[in-house]
Parts: sequence; C-alpha cells; structure tokens
Amino acid sequence: MSCIFCKIAAGEIPSEKVYSDDKVYAFKDISPQAPVHILVIPRVHIESANDINDENSAYVAAVFEAIPKVARACGLENGYRVITNVGEDGCQTVKHMHFHILGGKKLPENVV
Ligand code: AMP
Ligand code: ZN
Repeated sequence: MSCIFCKIAAGEIPSEKVYSDDKVYAFKDISPQAPVHILVIPRVHIESANDINDENSAYVAAVFEAIPKVARACGLENGYRVITNVGEDGCQTVKHMHFHILGGKKLPENVV
C-alpha cells in the first residue's frame, strides 16, 4: 500500500501525533490553515467519505468519537470546524479519508 496516510498511521512516516487508539490516528497538518489544524484518520484505508459502507462504518464512528477528544486536547473550547474533502470537485489531494479539525481563531463565515 503506497498510501501516505496509511504509512503515517502505521508509524512508517513521521507525524506529530495528537491522539491515537486502535481505530483512529490524529496528527498535526503539515501545512496548517488555522492556528490549530489537525487531521483525524481511520486506521483502515477508506478512500473518501464516498466510500463509507456497512463494513467500515465502525471506523467512521470511531473517528467521530475521537473528534471531541482531539478538540479538548487542543484547547478548542470555543468551537471549531470539521471538514472532509471528497474527490475531484471537493479538491481532495490525499486519497485516504481524513477529517480536518480547524480552530484556534474565529473562522471565516463564508466557507460553509
Ligand atoms: P485534502 O486536500 O483534504 O486531501 O487534505 C490533505 C491534507 O494533508 C493537506 O491539508 C496537507 O497539508 C496534509 N498533508 C499532506 N501530507 C502530510 C503529512 N505528511 N503530514 C501531515 N499533513 C499532511
Ligand atoms: Zn490509506
């Protein structure tokens, strides 16, 4: 598997870990778009949110259970934004589903 996020989750490529459990790994985005910018990924390869199904949805649930833990660990008591890009029109660049957690400042109103 040549997927960079699979390798990050497996510890084969270095990353700045924020949270980890048996189904989820979270780490700092290498090119932060906000004062806090974390990526939360499942430890199984799911290409995008468009590939969620009944066989992998336990990993997706685990990702969402991890998000408030990540937010607390990063001091995002005042709120944050969760984004996942899907496919070409969604401008997804890494084809391993990931959820961006953005915060640490008042975010622009006009993204979504
Ligand atoms: P997306 O455009 O939604 O696919 O987001 C991919 C994200 O992965 C971007 O925000 C990148 O900055 C981030 N990224 C790519 N490679 C790495 C890496 N090695 N470590 C941390 N973040 C990365
Ligand atoms: Zn992968």
